[in-house]
Amino acid sequence: MKKSWKEIPEGGLIVEPHTSLENKTGTWRSFRPVWDPQKCIHCMFCVFYCPDNAIPITKDDKPKRLDTNLDYCKGCGICANVCPTKAIEMVEEGDDQ
Ligand code: SF4
Ligand code: SF4
Repeated sequence: MKKSWKEIPEGGLIVEPHTSLENKTGTWRSFRPVWDPQKCIHCMFCVFYCPDNAIPITKDDKPKRLDTNLDYCKGCGICANVCPTKAIEMVEEGDDQ
């Protein structure tokens, strides 16, 4: 149940941690990044530039990227633009590839 304006903190302060996890920005998406692991050199450009932190990585000494977390990817296409090996292609939602 949503809180009324009388119950939320003054100034709209966020007083609990990790609330952004509840905001699933993937629902905004009209385009979806399709990652090709064969072309990926794990340079991490896409990971650093993703505004939604939607690209997970392994926890090794030499981390590797994993497939995009579509719960949070909003389909902006920045990852595809910065990828030096063209390992990410943006496809319209609904197109099966
Ligand atoms: S499309 Fe945008 S939000 Fe989605 S993974 Fe790429 S950079 Fe992140
Ligand atoms: S930018 Fe491209 S090559 Fe670099 S980690 Fe991301 S998908 Fe792989």
